[in-house]
Amino acid sequence: MSKNPESVSLCPLNSAAATEPEPLCIFGTGDLGRSLGQRLLQSGYRVVYGSRKPHSCGPLPPGTQAMSHSAAAQSAALVFICIHREHYNFLETLAPQLQGKVLVDVSNNLKKNLYPEANAEYLQRLVPGAHVVKAFNTLSAWTLQNGPSDANRQVYLCGNSAEAKQAVAETATKLGFTVLDRGSLCAARELEDFPLQLFPEWRLPLRIAVGLTAFFYFYLLIRIVIYTYVQKGDDISFRIMVSLANKVFPIVSLIMLSLCYLPGVIAAFLQLYRGTKYRRFPDWLDRWMLCRKQLGLLALAFAFLHVLYTLIIPQRYYVRNRIAGSTILLIKENKTSAFDSALAWRSDSFLSTGILGFGLYVLLGITSLPSVSNALSWREFSFVQVNDRHQKRPHSVLFGHTFLCQWLSDYLGWH
Ligand code: NAP
Repeated sequence: MSKNPESVSLCPLNSAAATEPEPLCIFGTGDLGRSLGQRLLQSGYRVVYGSRKPHSCGPLPPGTQAMSHSAAAQSAALVFICIHREHYNFLETLAPQLQGKVLVDVSNNLKKNLYPEANAEYLQRLVPGAHVVKAFNTLSAWTLQNGPSDANRQVYLCGNSAEAKQAVAETATKLGFTVLDRGSLCAARELEDFPLQLFPEWRLPLRIAVGLTAFFYFYLLIRIVIYTYVQKGDDISFRIMVSLANKVFPIVSLIMLSLCYLPGVIAAFLQLYRGTKYRRFPDWLDRWMLCRKQLGLLALAFAFLHVLYTLIIPQRYYVRNRIAGSTILLIKENKTSAFDSALAWRSDSFLSTGILGFGLYVLLGITSLPSVSNALSWREFSFVQVNDRHQKRPHSVLFGHTFLCQWLSDYLGWH
């Protein structure tokens, strides 16, 4: 280990050991400690556990060793602290053994703002001579055991020592993860809050969607079902399940789609009015702009529901009964209904444009997903998403909007 307290060396002390696998230490033989140890072993490291009861700590990955915390700390330059924060205080007594080591804090809390400082900052305060790096806390023991998958490939890290971060980043890369450096240890609280987040950017769009759905549903319930019952005494309450829902979904979908693109237009007007793009937008507009993707995806979800509900229309008892009734009536009256070519054209055109509109809607939704948009060039992305520079509206939205409106007006009329 180098004499300079700021420098961190992970090289073995003697040259003979150069061919030996690099030793890494894990404090704690719980779920995360065991999963991490197994993955480190598979990636070619030697793993040493530090435990309160090294001789009775349960099954560990084969090939690893368990010893006391102080002995384990001395055997490696990088120590993963796989222990809950509440038990960190014993680490203060190990400060001499941990001097100059890289300590990886993987801990999370049960709630936000449970403690006045981040767990990693607390650890740094307990062991000031060590280089604390916050990392791996956003991965579960399960992910570590099964290896990184597409959805869980990123390791966020932060710390005050660039060399210590480099050492942890190299280990994470060797385990198959992609490393994202979030800066100094001040960012630790943000990383600790990641696993506690519950769809923060979806909350507002979901509330809007639920509010609009409830509003239009009750409006249509009163206007169609209750009004008909009061006026004519007819009980058409069966329409609540499919007909009413299928009227509400496209309305909500189109409003959500408009809400998705409206803030861009307002922002453009605001910039024109102010004569500069270098002034901050008001907070409400900022917040609105940040949830545009979620608004768009919810609009797509409602359009999708509309498509599904529309596809089941021919199977409905009510529809089959009405068709059978009108056919029987024609037979009884010995009549035939003349084929109306104009009506056939109209109906096919509406259906066809509706399907094409939905296809473009799907295209728009898919290209907003990071995995797809990352694979597109800026020109390709802007062709689909923001091609119409002056209007700030994508061509596909214009088409989708028009076609869906046609489809909507067609269907609202007769089912
Ligand atoms: P765990 O299964 O409860 O294991 C914790 C380990 O800490 C125990 O096995 C024990 O090891 C040690 N320990 C317990 N009490 C102690 C004490 N008083 N003093 C010293 N050591 C003590 O917990 P875990 O699920 O592995 O989680 C460990 C840390 O990883 C936590 O901070 C957690 O927030 C974080 N984390 C866990 C996951 C996950 O999926 N499990 C994911 C991300 C982050 P010995 O008996 O060997 O001493």
